[in-house]
Amino acid sequence: MAMNTVEHVTDLRIAVNGAKRSGKTVGLVPTMGALHQGHLSLIERARTECDFVVMSLFVNPTQFTDIEDFEKYPRDPIRDRALAEKAGVSLVFEPGVGDVYVKGFDTVVVARHLSDILEGKSRPGHFQGVATVVTKLINMVGADKAFFGEKDYQQLQVVRRVVEDLNIPVKIVGCPIVREADGLAMSSRNVRLSERQRSAAAILKKALDYAQEIADTGVHDAYALRAWMAQTIEVEAEAKLDYATIVDPDELRDVDTIDSGGIALVAATFGKIRLIDNKVLKPAPGYEVRR
Ligand code: AMP
Repeated sequence: MAMNTVEHVTDLRIAVNGAKRSGKTVGLVPTMGALHQGHLSLIERARTECDFVVMSLFVNPTQFTDIEDFEKYPRDPIRDRALAEKAGVSLVFEPGVGDVYVKGFDTVVVARHLSDILEGKSRPGHFQGVATVVTKLINMVGADKAFFGEKDYQQLQVVRRVVEDLNIPVKIVGCPIVREADGLAMSSRNVRLSERQRSAAAILKKALDYAQEIADTGVHDAYALRAWMAQTIEVEAEAKLDYATIVDPDELRDVDTIDSGGIALVAATFGKIRLIDNKVLKPAPGYEVRR
């Protein structure tokens, strides 16, 4: 069946209700467009788990803390729609700002602890914008499942928290990070990197991998591993480190050791472009968790 695009919530509901009446399960893949393989992997996963896949295409103004970042965010809806159709999306929901934020809009959704740390420190208000728009998209679509990339790990945890805390009847599915050949996590912002910044950006994944290599030698001390990651990134002249940390995978609080595992999160800017990455860290092989 040919893919449709709708702009208004009423048309979205008509299409989704039609699919639901014929017994189809509905999956939602929220995106801001400028699609790459990372997005396509979410669509693929959604197709394996749901019969009717809605992809939203909306550059959400309220999650940007920097007006230039919002204005320069890559936009190519014609290409995006073609890629979505090829990937097997059933329906593209491409609302205007006025369809999402109606006149008099006055409500926000905030996961308080998770919004203030890490990315939230550098981007105040960002996760409030994300939590609010994702809640709205899930409710507008009435999705059974919604698919998010592990690349934006803090975002994934914010969404999981909100859905659990507000009893939203949707299953959140986290999908693995898709990377370029040199390890750089795919991101719509990568196209804005200069050639030098682009090759320097591979340092983020290298720092994460080094942390696991050191852990594999038996070093579980999170302070030592953090310092090692930070040093690795700081040596790269094009990179300005924001944070390199190791936290527990649920609440994202600092851990002292990775005796029972942890997740390493890094963020750095390359020129004006802010990039993030992460990796699950495991204790050294053969290490037995003592409780
Ligand atoms: P965005 O369009 O950047 O808001 O991203 C839309 C969704 O795609 C989010 O759930 C992201 O986490 C996910 N995503 C972005 N880049 C990647 C990637 N390299 N691998 C996997 N998922 C990704």
